[in-house]
Amino acid sequence: MLIPGVEIPQLCTQCHDYPCIEVCPVEALTIDTKTPAVLVDREKCTSCGLCVEACPGQIPYLHPEDRKAVICDLCGGDPKCVKACQDARFNVLTIIRQMWSTNTRKLFARTPEDLTADVAVNLFGEKAEELI
Ligand code: SF4
Ligand code: SF4
Ligand code: SF4
Repeated sequence: MLIPGVEIPQLCTQCHDYPCIEVCPVEALTIDTKTPAVLVDREKCTSCGLCVEACPGQIPYLHPEDRKAVICDLCGGDPKCVKACQDARFNVLTIIRQMWSTNTRKLFARTPEDLTADVAVNLFGEKAEELI
């Protein structure tokens, strides 16, 4: 959480060219055969952080305990975060099913700083400038 009270999920957008997979030196990252999600082989991951640097939104997260990469796996095709959001009637998260060939999803991969700044402005208006 970069700003107290502003907590926002960092979600993988499944880039069409998967720069995280391309850069991993030990082939710890693969594409799920059922969804476009990136799967992490925690046994292979060496915690080098190259996938974080290669991602346009710095979305892979090195777990604070074992430093292995963590990336949203779409819960195998049944995202629990979407269900929780809709059950709570916020309806912010929705499932968009698109053809794999799209090359626009990458545009939605945004850094924690960018996402937090946008939400802070929505919550606090001009005062957010002092927080960011
Ligand atoms: S942190 Fe792990 S998954 Fe990411 S590039 Fe390095 S070895 Fe691969
Ligand atoms: S958003 Fe980041 S983690 Fe997801 S596929 Fe693209 S480069 Fe990989
Ligand atoms: S709940 Fe599942 S789909 Fe949602 S962010 Fe976490 S891993 Fe991804």
